[in-house]
Amino acid sequence: MDTLVSINVYTKDLAADPGIRRAIAAAFAEMARLDSLMSSFREDSEVAAINRCGATGGEIEVSADIDTVLRMAQWAAEISAGAFDVTVAPILRLWGFGTDSAGVPAPEKIAACLPLVKFHDMALANAATNRTFGNEKSRVRFRQPGMAIDLGGVAKGYVVDRGLDALVQAGIRDAMITAGGDLRTIASPMTSGQRYIWIRHPRVDTVSNTTIGAEGKNFFGRFRLDAGAVSTSGDYERFFIKDGKRYHHIIDPSSGYPATEAVSATVVAKTSVQADALSTALFVLGPERGIALADSLPEVEAMIIYHEREKLQWRATKALQEKLKIF
Ligand code: ADP
Ligand code: MG
Repeated sequence: MDTLVSINVYTKDLAADPGIRRAIAAAFAEMARLDSLMSSFREDSEVAAINRCGATGGEIEVSADIDTVLRMAQWAAEISAGAFDVTVAPILRLWGFGTDSAGVPAPEKIAACLPLVKFHDMALANAATNRTFGNEKSRVRFRQPGMAIDLGGVAKGYVVDRGLDALVQAGIRDAMITAGGDLRTIASPMTSGQRYIWIRHPRVDTVSNTTIGAEGKNFFGRFRLDAGAVSTSGDYERFFIKDGKRYHHIIDPSSGYPATEAVSATVVAKTSVQADALSTALFVLGPERGIALADSLPEVEAMIIYHEREKLQWRATKALQEKLKIF
């Protein structure tokens, strides 16, 4: 996933809990298995096989994991009116983020690829809904040749969820998994009420300034969370600057260019896969439409940081606003 993944498990007495290391190893193993399915950068991943099918158009059988992630992706695409769209892959390739050849593509190239970005042209047929036809597998069908998917906006969340499931299955009841901008946590009475989520300041290098400080001056804000998932999408992790302009990796599928409405979008939800897809969607939608969408969803909270008159502003759903301490 090209990011740092950490697993924290909280226990009163490590020595009395020999299963913890085994649980952590099992969680990392499950996350590594999923990474190798969903990577856009490996020729041997399942996503690469799906994209070879997309190149010619047609249909391919997919694993239950990919099916689950694609269903979440299509849900996020529907509710965001296509602001989130995993079929944005052909455009992402033109920009080349994360490769040595990142650069601004020719406008004609973007215009030529835009018709391929259309989640409605990717259809899912699920094993469960096909049960009457016997033991059929989930399948995905591309209605246009040249289509491709990129799960970068949603897969990390799914991987974090499955990692947490592995911990829970191994008996862990108090833990946090973080993978770049995605995290999921569960708390036992031992730590409950004591866990803070710190939102990075989008224009301060928080990573190399690791001291939080009493006023949290390197951070934008914080809130308390015992159990749930948080995901942040920002323009400050993967980008390049050309002619004084910042070009980052979250594309507005309606234009083919990096989305400009937000600087960062943070979503709190029950699962990481949902928080991940929604944070990317809200980043594209921007403060007005993004917070309105979050308000319309049950058990979803959000905060969006954006630029207005040269200054950073923020807007949040009501429930999160009440919990947030902004520095
Ligand atoms: P990060 O990967 O930094 O945590 P995100 O979760 O927001 O950030 O995912 C960004 C990634 O999502 C991009 O690198 C790309 O792979 C993919 N992506 C970019 N634009 C879109 C979009 N409009 N819809 C869905 N996925 C996108
Ligand atoms: Mg995301």
